[in-house]
Amino acid sequence: MAEPFRCMQCELPEERCACQKYCNWCMSEHDVRLCFDGLFYCLDCREAGDLSVQNRVT
Ligand SMILES: [Zn+2]
Ligand SMILES: [Zn+2]
Repeated sequence: MAEPFRCMQCELPEERCACQKYCNWCMSEHDVRLCFDGLFYCLDCREAGDLSVQNRVT
């Protein structure tokens, strides 16, 4: 498994991050996930930008 992505603000993995989460592109709070660059993106922007998250929630 790859190294976990870390939040750019608090440097903690997504599961422990307590930062206010919102999309770095559109500021939406809808289904926001931490991405490879340490920033959070909403579902729409992740799909639009082809961004991958740590683990998919099914
Ligand atoms: Zn954080
Ligand atoms: Zn967005």
